[in-house]
Amino acid sequence: MQTVILGAGISGLSAAYALEKVCPGSYGIYEQGGTVGGLCRTQQVDGFRFDTVSHVLHFRSQETEQLVRGLFDEELIRQERSAWIYFQGRHVPYPFQTHLNALPASAQAACVGGYVKAWIKRQLGGNGEPNNFGEWVDQYFGGGIARLFMRPYNQKLWGVNPEQMSLDWIRPFVPRTELGQVISNLVSRQNHHQLGYNPWFFYPRQGGIQALSEAFQKHLAEVRLEHEAVEIDLERHTVRFQDGGLIGYERLISTMPLPTLIARTRGIPENLRQEASGLRWTSLLNLTFCLRRPLPQPFHWVYFPEDEYPFFRLVFPSNICAELAPEGGGLIAAEISNPEPGRENELERRVAGCLEKLGWISHPEDVVRVVLNHFPYAYPIHDLERAHRVQRLLDFLESRQVWSIGRFGAWRYSSIDDAITEALCGVPKILESAPGSILGNDATHPAP
Ligand SMILES: Cc1cc2nc3c(=O)[nH]c(=O)nc-3n(C[C@H](O)[C@H](O)[C@H](O)COP(=O)(O)OP(=O)(O)OC[C@H]3O[C@@H](n4cnc5c(N)ncnc54)[C@H](O)[C@@H]3O)c2cc1C
Repeated sequence: MQTVILGAGISGLSAAYALEKVCPGSYGIYEQGGTVGGLCRTQQVDGFRFDTVSHVLHFRSQETEQLVRGLFDEELIRQERSAWIYFQGRHVPYPFQTHLNALPASAQAACVGGYVKAWIKRQLGGNGEPNNFGEWVDQYFGGGIARLFMRPYNQKLWGVNPEQMSLDWIRPFVPRTELGQVISNLVSRQNHHQLGYNPWFFYPRQGGIQALSEAFQKHLAEVRLEHEAVEIDLERHTVRFQDGGLIGYERLISTMPLPTLIARTRGIPENLRQEASGLRWTSLLNLTFCLRRPLPQPFHWVYFPEDEYPFFRLVFPSNICAELAPEGGGLIAAEISNPEPGRENELERRVAGCLEKLGWISHPEDVVRVVLNHFPYAYPIHDLERAHRVQRLLDFLESRQVWSIGRFGAWRYSSIDDAITEALCGVPKILESAPGSILGNDATHPAP
């Protein structure tokens, strides 16, 4: 095989799609699971259909948008985002930092006062460049927003102190705010819903997010499922699978998590193994509540910064696409970061209690079923060492004709759009085997 691709998530599928266009039949794609899609899979249970991890589609690249739209026979559903933050017993429109009018009076005073103070300090040149996410939050948003929302929410999601995180991920994901927006919202009470990277989004009309994975698959030669790569030999250019099967490659594209790739590869120098062992990430427990009643509110998702709630976000998939729930039913997904192992049942009870308290469920009998999906890898943490560790690992692998790509391969907080764009741009360069890290670099996320 000229090019072997490990993993049939969106990154592996897009890389195969790009190869199919330029060199049909020159590659093989191998996936450890029983279906394609990786994180982008959809389950069907008791007439409900839901993503194992809730997804929506948003595009920064026009080419990627066109490609994705072209994969489907029907137009995608287009929705204007309805995202909120649940804060001190009320729903504040997202982003928090531009909707300070919606806060209770004391929180509003702390946030506005802190924001203006930080703004003045910036104008007077009083701050140096921020060295980490925590400093950036304080400098740009001020003490109130930092203390009441940015710090607790991010601590809950990432499980690390914001001072331990870098700045190379924030540009698309954390909307900045201008003084004018803060003031105009306070005076005119006009909301700025359109801020952020996904003010509107798309979703497949049928079949959940898996429809996207399957739409890619249709264009490819066979995807070999239930093929878990257990050993890569850099000298011999071979991959061994769990069933003992062995294949050779000229080039290898891996989308498995970088620490796993390093652990399973023969011929990695000890210092690089040490680098890989320093990478950090979060795991995720996704609990999907299938309900026999419609949802009481039309929201798409709500963020929860407060400790009282074990989840950092609730998503309402049946509000994103009505086809996902049977008529008269509803779906709620609760996302919990770094759940303690063995405490799933207790968490399920806690989440159910919170949903009742918040009014999303009226009676326990409304719940038809709760489905738990656990993901050992969810968010690669952009700590202060990540960039140089990852660069060293990717440079070494690339020098041995191995390209590690995707959210966990390139170890980057990234979206479906990023995965597709990077694979489409990267494959021609891989074919030329150009020096320099091509897929693992942070070109699409320049530091702010
Ligand atoms: C909670 C959450 C919500 C998200 N929401 C959105 C969203 O709304 N919109 C958006 O654009 N993005 C979203 N994302 C990001 C998006 O899911 C990812 O960017 C994208 O799915 C990554 O695809 P991937 O192929 O790089 O990785 P993966 O989906 O992880 O695919 C890797 C594949 O490799 C396989 N594999 C691993 N090891 C081996 C092995 N040894 N041998 C063979 N195969 C192997 C795995 O089984 C898997 O199929 C979200 C992510 C999370 C965690």
